[in-house]
Amino acid sequence: MLDTNVAENSDEDKKITRALYGGNKENRIQQEIVLGIGGIRALHALNIKPLVCHMNEGHSAFLALERIRILIQQGLTFEQAKDIGNFSNIFTTHTPVPAGIDVFGNDLVESYFGKYYREELKISDKQFYQLGTIMNKPPSNFNMAHLAMNMAGMVNGVSKLHGIVSKQMWTEGFPNIPFDEIPIEHVTNGIHTRSHLSTEMSELLGRYLGDDFTAGNGDLETWKAVDEIPDEELWNTHERRRERLVSFARKRLKKQLLSRGASTIEIEAAKEVLNPSALTIGFARRFATYKRATLILRDIERLLEITGNPERPVQFIIAGKAHPQDEEGKKLIQELVSVSKESSFRKRIVFLENYDMNIARYMVEGCDVWLNNPRRPLEASGTSGMKIIANGGLNFSILDGWWDEAYQREFGWKIGNGEEYQNIEYQDEVESRLIYETLEKEIVTTFYDRGEDKLPRKWIHMMKESMKNLGPVFNTGRMVSEYNDKYYINALSRRKFILENDWEEGKKYSKWKADLLKNWKNIKFVSVSEENPKTELKVASSYKLTCEVDLGKLTPEDVAVQIYYGKVDNKNDVNANDFVVMKYTKTNKDLGIHTFEGEIECNNTGHFGYTLRMLPKHSLLNNPFELNLIHWA
Ligand SMILES: *Cc1c(COP(=O)(O)O)cnc(C)c1O
Repeated sequence: MLDTNVAENSDEDKKITRALYGGNKENRIQQEIVLGIGGIRALHALNIKPLVCHMNEGHSAFLALERIRILIQQGLTFEQAKDIGNFSNIFTTHTPVPAGIDVFGNDLVESYFGKYYREELKISDKQFYQLGTIMNKPPSNFNMAHLAMNMAGMVNGVSKLHGIVSKQMWTEGFPNIPFDEIPIEHVTNGIHTRSHLSTEMSELLGRYLGDDFTAGNGDLETWKAVDEIPDEELWNTHERRRERLVSFARKRLKKQLLSRGASTIEIEAAKEVLNPSALTIGFARRFATYKRATLILRDIERLLEITGNPERPVQFIIAGKAHPQDEEGKKLIQELVSVSKESSFRKRIVFLENYDMNIARYMVEGCDVWLNNPRRPLEASGTSGMKIIANGGLNFSILDGWWDEAYQREFGWKIGNGEEYQNIEYQDEVESRLIYETLEKEIVTTFYDRGEDKLPRKWIHMMKESMKNLGPVFNTGRMVSEYNDKYYINALSRRKFILENDWEEGKKYSKWKADLLKNWKNIKFVSVSEENPKTELKVASSYKLTCEVDLGKLTPEDVAVQIYYGKVDNKNDVNANDFVVMKYTKTNKDLGIHTFEGEIECNNTGHFGYTLRMLPKHSLLNNPFELNLIHWA
């Protein structure tokens, strides 16, 4: 809908949306203006006025500026409009890879936004460029992820691990805030099960789980019925899809060879690659270098032994595309293509070109094992492995992204134990060996462990465990519910509340915030006293503290005073991660001093330490850390 290639546009503008990647920085900023600003304008032109916006990666973050511009036209100040925007912008960050985040030079930004921020947003250059960074000083670059963070009251990563990695990545932007409390959460990605499920498996699951087995988000109860499927039926359904995959791969390979002008002999031979009943391992994704598509090639001899065993053959189907400007990624493809042409691997390793949704469909529906070996922790979530779950495939992956929280030995395999390495060469060596070892000792043996009836019972058991434990969790139904419950509903009700009576509550909040920011540096702890200073306390007793604070022009309602405490470790550091909120008790008007009280419940044994802190308090705040204000005793 935002295609710029329409007759009314200039020739230059027609090119803006021609290719997703492949343009230069200028093309990129143009695209993001079309997406963010154009997107909001298009919605308004359709008379759709969104109250909540979800910025999926920083690429769309200019939308926050446009939402501010619209409010300014309605008579609000920039600060008011920005504070209000904060209640209803959600930002999901998708990558810890710096190349995945758009950063524009300020000069480039100036040429597109100079007029916009001066005349429309009515702010200074200093104010404007500060929006493009979460750091204290504006650098010479404008970072789209930072813009999104500055504009969103709710920020999340796309897996549990990625939530933590994002905090690490941006900890500089949250000085003085304990790591655990940096306001970046996570909602783990999911896939739309029906879109990736084969017709055969869908019918089978429908028979045993009920036709609407994908309804009801995360319905573990429904999926338990996977156990009712007879092993043989499940296995036959899966095998049929593997056979389809093999014949699809042969056809694609033939087409590739034809277009390359290969010899008749080569083309004839393509008919015989792969084995429809061999253990089939799939690897398909973008060929970003961190995904290490060639890791399995590290020890060619060992790979040959694994794939070449006539009794227990193993084959790989590999597909992927590199970013047009990623020369390293293209080299990986060349390497794979060249190995797959060697006579010893020709029948066992097939590389499919022009990876797209169609190839992906055949692969996720027919592979036995899905291999993923990214360099931890660079895979924010990864989703292709989720697509094989309901199809009965099993995951074999580094503990990164979603697999870090999903893995259990009952239904899949891990590579390593979640280590991170300084020496990349060494890491590749260690992890490639782990791949070979797990293949040899566990995966191949389990797959070929057949009884009289030729069924791999243990394997089928793993398939069932995977389907019923992961199927109801790693899907978009569960994901959207989570966004809904955690963010959307909340954001919507607050936005509605603050917009009543010409943004009355919004304006009040904005003023409160401005006053708080101005006065924060003047607040201080005057005294702290322990009612009953003891060195030893019994479990189940409590430890009472009283403090006096000077809040300057602020009131006791503006702040939360907390006792922050935790265990003392053997280095005498307090590993605090717990807090109790202190209660306001009285004010000495003459001195302008307020008293708060609170007590720590002694629930555990050990040595403890504590400190006190003050945080902003307002019923509209998303969380007490979002203003980046904290005052430690
Ligand atoms: C699912 C999918 C992806 C994403 O795969 P990852 O392993 O998460 O990188 C990429 N391309 C296509 C065509 C897909 O279907």
